[in-house]
Amino acid sequence: MKEDTKLCHVGRPREGVRMVNPPVERGSTVMFPDYDTFRERKRPRYYGRHGTDTHDALKEAVAELESAASVTLTSSGLSAVCLAILAFAEPGTDILVTDTTYDPVRSFCEQFLKPRGVSVRYYDPLVGTGIKDLIRRETALIHTESPGSLTFEVQDLPAICEAAGNIPVTVDNTWGGGVFLKPLEFGAAISIQAATKYMGGHSDVFLGTIASRTEKVGQKIFKTAQLLGNATSPDDVYTVLRGLRTLPLRLREHERQGLALARWLEARPEVAKVLHPGLESHPQHALWKRDFSGASGLFSVILERGDEGFVRKFIDSLNLYGLGYSWGGYESLCLPAWPKSCRSATSWDVDGQLLRFHAGLEAIDDLTNDLAQAFDKASVEARP
Ligand SMILES: *Cc1c(COP(=O)(O)O)cnc(C)c1O
Repeated sequence: MKEDTKLCHVGRPREGVRMVNPPVERGSTVMFPDYDTFRERKRPRYYGRHGTDTHDALKEAVAELESAASVTLTSSGLSAVCLAILAFAEPGTDILVTDTTYDPVRSFCEQFLKPRGVSVRYYDPLVGTGIKDLIRRETALIHTESPGSLTFEVQDLPAICEAAGNIPVTVDNTWGGGVFLKPLEFGAAISIQAATKYMGGHSDVFLGTIASRTEKVGQKIFKTAQLLGNATSPDDVYTVLRGLRTLPLRLREHERQGLALARWLEARPEVAKVLHPGLESHPQHALWKRDFSGASGLFSVILERGDEGFVRKFIDSLNLYGLGYSWGGYESLCLPAWPKSCRSATSWDVDGQLLRFHAGLEAIDDLTNDLAQAFDKASVEARP
């Protein structure tokens, strides 16, 4: 069966007279019929924190999507990344983290891991097989994210996984939504998603998913989650499962919209560069083409100008693009960002302002018309 078909059918009630969707099963206390059953703790779950049948339905669906042996759900995308790292990063170990990691992950490394005796080294996302030279005896984990946050460098994940050998590679797979990139099939140990983004798809829920290639790694992750007291709401889990049904459909549309916007922006005189892996002009376009089956709706542009007057007028003149963090919903967004402050292994010396766009599901002509009028207003009112 094709993926679209599988995602329509996985994690649903299968027998008897039934609803299309699984119920939202809420619960903290799990009750046992008698003393012996209680002592045996026969069920894999004996407390609601371990999850309910609703959680199982989403885990089953994500396992299908990511080709995973085991899935753990966490309270947010950030908690999913931190928890996966924590499962391996013990005091005295060393971890390698891509320089273009989602910035709050860097904060976790700097402000939480380092003070607890974990060595954290950031590496150039384009390192490829060169990661071999960075690996030490104490290296416990290699964290990747492809394409990188804000600047969209595509990593050579198969090369990194091969060079890593037995060292687990974690992949932040949020951009591809689990549909366009299959890291576990390249040999990565763990694929992580902020389900907050495309899986949920409506900007109304927080959830993280950790998909493990092997049952053994999955057990380690689940145990770490339990030791840390991780719990997720069945209502949020249900909301994400509902989003997942239309995930491939929405992603294909976000891809079309994103490419159309990127091409339109690339032709504008106000734009110096478009950072979109699906464009032929992207430096790792060939890598993207080899490893990904599509592009989502998130990309960046670098404007010709970097003066705040122009940027402010442009952003404040937009009517259809929201100004805010996160992405992956049905709506378009435009966010100014300053990557220089969140890079240490590589440098970011660009004069023009970086703007990150999320291409939503609005009509494309409305989206380009809105950009055109905002560029016009900014150019008139903020002459250089
Ligand atoms: C948003 C994001 C996260 C964090 O997800 P939250 O659910 O907002 O905590 C992690 N990784 C990437 C790449 C993201 O864009």
